[in-house]
Amino acid sequence: MKKNQATAVVSLCLALAVLFMVAPAFREMNNKEKIRKGPGVSRIIPLSDYFDGLKNTAGDTEVYILDSGRPGGTVLVLGGTHCNEPAGYIGAILLLENAIPVEGRLIVIPRANASALTHTDYAEGSPQKISLQAKGGERWFRYGSRATNPVHQWPDPDIYIHAGSGQRLSGSETRNLNRAYPGRPDGSLTEKIAYAIVQLIKKEKADLSFDLHEASPEYPVINAMVAHERAMGIAAEAAMNLQLNGVQMGIEPSPQKLRGLSHREWGDATDTLAILMETANPAQGRLKGATGARAVMDGRDKAYEAAAKLGRLFIPFDAAGQPIDIRVARHIAAICESIAVYNKTYPAARVVLEDIPSYDVMVKEGIGRFL
Ligand SMILES: [Zn+2]
Repeated sequence: MKKNQATAVVSLCLALAVLFMVAPAFREMNNKEKIRKGPGVSRIIPLSDYFDGLKNTAGDTEVYILDSGRPGGTVLVLGGTHCNEPAGYIGAILLLENAIPVEGRLIVIPRANASALTHTDYAEGSPQKISLQAKGGERWFRYGSRATNPVHQWPDPDIYIHAGSGQRLSGSETRNLNRAYPGRPDGSLTEKIAYAIVQLIKKEKADLSFDLHEASPEYPVINAMVAHERAMGIAAEAAMNLQLNGVQMGIEPSPQKLRGLSHREWGDATDTLAILMETANPAQGRLKGATGARAVMDGRDKAYEAAAKLGRLFIPFDAAGQPIDIRVARHIAAICESIAVYNKTYPAARVVLEDIPSYDVMVKEGIGRFL
């Protein structure tokens, strides 16, 4: 055997050995966390019920319907649009496992982009799992990616062109669910998921819809509600009430020309009042120190403490950081406050939900008590 043939054989064997070692971790990402069917859940249906084209794809996902059986409006809550933003999907899970509808309906999609939960972002050092102490012991949740798994949608074009507007973004945004709305039935997997969600909003006549997100602490739109112009009145009054109760929450208008996002396209394509919410996850930022499950859950980071002292952040950030309890509590409190304002504005189509823990209780006792 010639020397270069021997080198090739050794390299191949080494590559196979590495593949063999990492394969279990890769496959493990297909195991989803368990979600409890809360006492208020009446039905669980696949998202593909709203668009056949999603059936048997990695984009299909569960839709939890909490129906009071009494007349009223419909509220939709999405978690897991971006699967590296855990306060969004853990908040959605907490809601569907606890809320009891008394008037109207609540619909929750906790894993909006289920494909994005099956991988992590390249070169970010993200954990594959996060966990907390829940009432039944330790409970884990998947930590995924911002975008659809390239195993399910590949390759990316050099430039992503938003179908409805012609807006041009970098190629990787083609797998970002929150740039794909209102979606296309004959588009990419991500556009199909977006299309199915918009069909759900139309078919179920969702009156008020939330998309729960997180962003890095240095991002200017943080601890904030981004509202479509028709939802701005509700978001503004809700944010004011939250601030009066000591819960920091700002408001931002949905930019008219930034296309493909839920707060813009849901409001333009349907009759729903669309609001997107952001809390701060230091593990997502560019200033972060070591990343790991603890950094995601405790939300502590020395680099962000230093950045706050230098006035580089838009939120306070001290040694206590931004723990997951506060981030989830902020999402839930903002949803509840927005529904309260909505009920006052539209008394003929109220949505009344009970047994949702308050912000103070979640912050003081931890969200694990309710999971
Ligand atoms: Zn996001």
